[in-house]
Amino acid sequence: MPHVKSTTRGFASPGKYIQGPGEMNRLKEYTSMYGEKVFILIDRYLSDSIGKQIRASYGKDSDNLYFDNFNGESTLKEIDRVTELAKQDKPNIIVGIGGGKTLDTAKAVAANLSLPVISAPTAASTDAPTSGLSVIYTEEGEQTHCIFHKSNPDIVLVDTEIIVKAPVRFLVSGMGDALSTYFEARANAESDTANYVGKGYKRCKAAMAIAEMCYDILLEDGLAAKLAAERGVCTEAVENVIEANTLLSGVGFENTGCAGGHAVNEGLTVLEETHCFYHGEKVAFGTICQLILENRPKAEIEEVIDFCLSVGLPTTLKDLHVEPTYEKVMAVAKRAAIEGGIAHAEPFNVTPELFYNCILATDAYVRNYKMQKGI
Ligand SMILES: [Zn+2]
Repeated sequence: MPHVKSTTRGFASPGKYIQGPGEMNRLKEYTSMYGEKVFILIDRYLSDSIGKQIRASYGKDSDNLYFDNFNGESTLKEIDRVTELAKQDKPNIIVGIGGGKTLDTAKAVAANLSLPVISAPTAASTDAPTSGLSVIYTEEGEQTHCIFHKSNPDIVLVDTEIIVKAPVRFLVSGMGDALSTYFEARANAESDTANYVGKGYKRCKAAMAIAEMCYDILLEDGLAAKLAAERGVCTEAVENVIEANTLLSGVGFENTGCAGGHAVNEGLTVLEETHCFYHGEKVAFGTICQLILENRPKAEIEEVIDFCLSVGLPTTLKDLHVEPTYEKVMAVAKRAAIEGGIAHAEPFNVTPELFYNCILATDAYVRNYKMQKGI
């Protein structure tokens, strides 16, 4: 990762961020600002429920809606497929509705066609909705690279009524992703690594404040939000956590940078047994690994472990179905420390050996911590 070469600061964010109950029913108000023809890429399992709801909300104008179901993986092939399809419909705007991979694909399609894009997450599970980049995977689900777009989504539309009805595991996973934001921001600040705004910019003070607030909200409202969401109800704590998971985590990571936490997540994606876990679940474990890697104060490490345990995020290799064998852990460590990868934003030189050691040490630390607490 290149250290910044100048003192220039850079900051990127979506054009607008709108969050509240029932906002998906107002989609027409937002798309009509750009034109009549709307191409909607939606998760297959949502096309009956939310797809129908959207068609009804457009009334007679629903003839100008073109729906396509997302294939399930954000691959280059899928982006090409959807781009070709959307091209034929000549839309004025692209809308992505669903999980992070659907939104990343919609953003890439919009960029290919130089069209505006609305990113409408249906779960607060990742920080993909706000960012100006798309994470690309292989058909098998292994993360390969990112495509950086010219701009961030024009509008991020978050209907909290929909989010609170999604399985609670999504909200908790989003907290795992958001948990890393502040610690990775701090690592990037210490190593003076460029953020993801492009052209080697430093972090603005605003970005660091956003990353800090993201962590504060999780500690303050995380558990309350989870408990409310389990009852399917939206409270201010739920709204706060949805904002932390989506806006603060998204704008936070893009404007400060990822580091060890996400590197461990990338490493874990090479093991098939972790594919049943969500991004944020792997990032949560990765965040504890990063703190151990950086040898942070005990109180800080245990605050993060306590938070993960309170909301039910994975904290050990066993939680992620990973056998602690040399081959498995070294495979994760090698991918985590890959040359040119995000782990090199850490404020010291990182190697596969360092990650191997810290992953096993993290596993041992948490197991002992839980044993002491009788968990
Ligand atoms: Zn993430």
